Amino acid sequence: MHEMSLCESIIQIIEEEARQHGFARVQAVHLEIGALAGVEIPAMEFSFDVVRRGTVAEDARLVIHTIPGTAWCMGCDSNVEVRERLQACPKCGSWRLQVTGGEDLRIRHLEVDDRAHDEANSGMEHEQTKQHTAGS
Ligand SMILES: [Zn+2]
Repeated sequence: MHEMSLCESIIQIIEEEARQHGFARVQAVHLEIGALAGVEIPAMEFSFDVVRRGTVAEDARLVIHTIPGTAWCMGCDSNVEVRERLQACPKCGSWRLQVTGGEDLRIRHLEVDDRAHDEANSGMEHEQTKQHTAGS
């Protein structure tokens, strides 16, 4: 299930953002998933639930925005919406389609709690100290 590794990368990006911008909690993660990205949304939700544990996104809601797949049809010279990578043009039936959009998965937006709580703060300092020790 590659959704698990996708979610791991997403959490890594979020933790990196949290370090850079100094927020302690993520309340919601908005993801954009293209219809042609090859991602199963239920698997994504399941995996996110597993990998977020013990991270800044532990209590975060996962909000998924699906983006339609689009393609350029060389048969009728127009932009069309497609559901699969291999399909005929819905307008003219041509198979000469070039996918132009809806292949990506990205983080659109994070809802964060940037009021630093004392407890969360000391937790982060502790984490940084540990990393420093491990690195030297
Ligand atoms: Zn066409």
